[in-house]
Amino acid sequence: MAIAKRGVPATPSPTFEYAPAPEATDHVRIASKYDLFVGGRFVRAHSRRRFATVNPATEETLSEVAEADEVDVDRAVTAAADAFRSWSALPAARRARYVFRISRLIQERARELAVVETLDGGKPIKESRDVDVPLAAAHFFYYAGWADKLEWAFPNRRPRPLGVAGQVIPWNFPLLMLAWKVAPALAAGNTVVLKPAETTPLTAMLFADVCQQAELPPGVVNIVTGAGETGALVVGHPAVRKVAFTGSTEVGKLIQRQLAGTGKRLTLELGGKAANVVFDDAPLDQAVEGIVNGIYFNQGHVCCAGSRLLVQESIAGPLLEKLKRRLTTLRVGDPLDKNTDVGAINSRQQLDRIEALVRSGVDEGAELYQPECALPERGWWFRPTLFTNVAQSSRIAREEIFGPVLSVLTFRTPDEAVEKANNTPYGLSAGVWTEKGSRILWMAERMRAGVVWANTYNRFDPTSPFGGYKESGFGREGGLHGLAPYVELA
Ligand code: NDP
Repeated sequence: MAIAKRGVPATPSPTFEYAPAPEATDHVRIASKYDLFVGGRFVRAHSRRRFATVNPATEETLSEVAEADEVDVDRAVTAAADAFRSWSALPAARRARYVFRISRLIQERARELAVVETLDGGKPIKESRDVDVPLAAAHFFYYAGWADKLEWAFPNRRPRPLGVAGQVIPWNFPLLMLAWKVAPALAAGNTVVLKPAETTPLTAMLFADVCQQAELPPGVVNIVTGAGETGALVVGHPAVRKVAFTGSTEVGKLIQRQLAGTGKRLTLELGGKAANVVFDDAPLDQAVEGIVNGIYFNQGHVCCAGSRLLVQESIAGPLLEKLKRRLTTLRVGDPLDKNTDVGAINSRQQLDRIEALVRSGVDEGAELYQPECALPERGWWFRPTLFTNVAQSSRIAREEIFGPVLSVLTFRTPDEAVEKANNTPYGLSAGVWTEKGSRILWMAERMRAGVVWANTYNRFDPTSPFGGYKESGFGREGGLHGLAPYVELA
């Protein structure tokens, strides 16, 4: 919108311009250094080593975080094993009270957590504020409700906690992934050693503070920061009884090999290359919003992103026209601005990976479309991107790009749609857009995907299980199914 300055009439402008709407950061205090959270206290790392965590939108260092070595991980697991004895023996209703308290504290500190998530990870504040943090609180709330009802969750069985859970999480939804893992583990009576991702450790550090505020007994939650080696130490520690990992398929396979024969329980939530299928009877404007949400939400750093658009050939023309027009309205830039739709790419390394895959798409003959938009000079950014003329065999149709890049393919019949949707080593999620309920059910039955969204995309709820088939991993998180990996059923 053009604004009149000092009485000079504004020239009518065809484009709507937004005034900046930055979220304040003065209510947030990020410490210059963070230690490890072990046995209910922040303790200096034995390694004495630290690494920087950086704001991807400015490339400025936010804080220095401890790097846990073998001794540190052993101390954390020992603290968790000691705490397990009393935590698992607590009356379940008292355990529930602690988990409820954590949920309430996340709600109370929501604004601070959202800002720190956005500063550390690069995602738009409207997403961390409206999705990540409320959902993290909702997971604790939901699982608190189960803590004293485990006999009802598993009728005619006697559920018992397993012991220490070793949990390794990625950088795309740091607090939410923490909640997915910690909440069911605690509710079922286990204790936890958690390793956050190297590029996004800060909300986990705030969560440690939340645990102290909730007066959670020492050692029930322990947080060890570090790189992949620290993750491997957590996973490999002999006193860890259950491992939960979310991240790349490559590392998931390594962990599966590492744990073979140890008897440890394992759940893996890995990569994806989901098909978002649009039939010719779908409401196109609604579908366009779902496609945009499916792939550009969180810069496409989403394991269940709808990264392959399968569109019925007869409507490909009008749909793509609408979609391209919609892309020109996406606002890329300062993640702290409340009007930003696409924030910063999480790391230089991830940006390099996205750029390499996009180059491969061009080299393999696909047609690239990117809207004109100015990108900030500092930080790591990538324009919302769309490829047409994509062959099923090309890398951009097969590999997880984990960035704001959509590959468009077409189909003629429902059978062809199913065949193309399933033509991937992954099987995490899928979307269907059609006005026919029977077709939704027909497709959902045939698509090999753990989650199928109908006429919507990227909707999450703590009561609903989430997880994959094939190279997307195994085991479910969320809902009743998410409790099962944390109990032994006598
Ligand atoms: P990783 O799988 O390497 O990272 C996930 C988590 O595992 C991080 O905490 C990481 O630590 C840790 N880790 C790394 N190596 C090991 C190991 N050997 N044993 C135990 N833990 C380990 O993913 P990247 O961050 O390297 O991303 C690479 C690609 O993976 C992305 O481009 C994307 O395609 C995919 N990915 C998929 C995710 C999903 O949810 N499906 C999530 C993240 C990435 P550290 O942070 O220090 O590396």
